[in-house]
Order: sequence, then structure tokens, then C-alpha cells
Amino acid sequence: MDKHVRKLLSSVEHDEETGCWNLMTRLDSVGRPHNTFRGFHERAHRNAYRMFHGPILPGYFVCHECDNPRCVNPKHLWQGTRAENQADMASKGRSNAKRRPGLPKAETYQRIASLKQCGFGWAEIAAGLDLSEGHCMNVFYSRKRRADMGL
Ligand SMILES: [Zn+2]
Repeated sequence: MDKHVRKLLSSVEHDEETGCWNLMTRLDSVGRPHNTFRGFHERAHRNAYRMFHGPILPGYFVCHECDNPRCVNPKHLWQGTRAENQADMASKGRSNAKRRPGLPKAETYQRIASLKQCGFGWAEIAAGLDLSEGHCMNVFYSRKRRADMGL
């Protein structure tokens, strides 16, 4: 077995109910584990995808079928374009924020946070939600700060 795979599997907790492989390593500021594989130091689920499925195509994202940021089960990971990811999120009812100026902040925050989890950058998140980049960052960081302070 590849030593990276062995290392990954040794840090994983299996969730019998969901089938998720929860990577129990340290998380970054937005709650995602990272690791290194073949010179790629980045989010662990992307590296897990590389280990089990192969390269990620340029411009493609790796998303969780299970919406669990810790999960590195290759069966729960899929690769798609930004449009496909957005379609998936829309079908799960998470990204139809377009043209809804009165959207409650908590909901906006949830959408931004889940897009960030999927690996989108600020410009893409802003375009996807039809908001300005600055607004998205504001909502995300102000809410996160409050959460960090336990409010
Ligand atoms: Zn999973």
C-alpha cells in the first residue's frame, strides 16, 4: 500500500452510519483537514481523490456527496466543474440565493461557508450568489468571528 494511503487511513475514523471516513487531524480555520500528497499540500479530500481516483482535471473541483468536510472516503467524492457543483448544491437547496436581497444573514453565511468548503474562491462565490465579493467576505468573517467568540 502506498505510504500516503496508509497514513491517511491510519488517521481516519469510520462512521458506520454514513459510511464516511472522518479524517481526525487538525482542522484549518474553516474546519477542513489538510494534508500533503505528491507535492500537493491542500485540502485532504482533494488529495484523497488523487490517491484513489487519480488526477484532478484543471479547473475542476472535488466535492463531497455527503457534505461532510472531514470525509475522505473516495466513494463520497466526485469531481465536477463549477457549474456542476452549483447544480448539485442548487438541487440540495443550498444555493438559490440569486436575486433575493432580503436573504437572512445566517442563510447567506451558510451558503458562503458551503461554497468555500467546496473550494470556490471569493470571486466565484460572489458570482454564484450574485453578491459583491466584499459583501460575501464581510458576512463570512463577521459571523465566523462571532462564532469564534461563542456568540
Ligand atoms: Zn462521506
